[in-house]
Amino acid sequence: MKETEVREFHTPGSGIFFRAERRLLSERTPFQKMEVYETASHGRVLLLDGLVQTTEMDEFFYHEMLVHPALMAHSRPRDILIIGGGDGGALREVLRYRIRSAVLVEIDARVIEVCRKHFPGLSLSFRDKRAEIVVEDGNRFIRETDRRFDVILVDSSDPVGPSTVLHQRRFYASLKTCLRPGGIIVSQAGAPLFHLEHLRKKRVFLKELFTFARYYIGPAPTYPGGLWCYAYLSDRVDPMKRLSKNVPRKLRYYNADVHRAAFALPEFLKDRSRR
Ligand code: SAM
Repeated sequence: MKETEVREFHTPGSGIFFRAERRLLSERTPFQKMEVYETASHGRVLLLDGLVQTTEMDEFFYHEMLVHPALMAHSRPRDILIIGGGDGGALREVLRYRIRSAVLVEIDARVIEVCRKHFPGLSLSFRDKRAEIVVEDGNRFIRETDRRFDVILVDSSDPVGPSTVLHQRRFYASLKTCLRPGGIIVSQAGAPLFHLEHLRKKRVFLKELFTFARYYIGPAPTYPGGLWCYAYLSDRVDPMKRLSKNVPRKLRYYNADVHRAAFALPEFLKDRSRR
């Protein structure tokens, strides 16, 4: 295949493009369109419904900032739930801790199969004996399970297609019932530059559901606007309390200073509400 240009529009007039040397896969799964490209600039790139999910070159920015603030803030995380995350990157970061179990609930089995083959740096985590992979709709799983978790991570795609329900109030209300006392939820929330109204509306219902409902941010070079927002949710654990554990070794982005800085929000994203 001659070189081709892969484009994702973030606005009608702007976006990101990759020059791809090879298209490794393009197929429609029962849930979404999936594509994998080989690029010189970013290594392998995974797209779902035309939206960049992960690239080998910069995935660590997102996965470390999704996982470590919660795992570090929790005094003794034992049982972890990941909703989505079929590429394996979030699971890889979770398994850096001495946890007992990590359950990953991914709706699309093809995402897991394809990432096992084409993204070994992310999917090696699937082989860990502490990992349990469940192929199911995350919203249905949390409504039907009687299991309880110390930390829940929502590594969903954008609020389109199968992921839409994972951005709604009722999903977070159900998610809360799966948390042990002192538990923490972190969810990818969106692009501050392009999804500001969505983030503001979401913050209103998250603050109704949780004592600590805080946004934090981090760079995500290949996501819209290059900046990503995460929601930290807990009824008991303040994310700014002193971190009790040593940060896992060999991380490439996250550390205790980054943790504190991430919760210092810029003016346009600050919470202006009284409550
Ligand atoms: N970091 C990426 C982002 O922010 O766009 C997300 C990466 S991860 C690949 C997203 C995963 O969520 C996809 O594999 C998708 O199939 C899965 N997903 C979407 N809706 C889901 C649902 N309702 N239940 C479980 N997994 C879901």
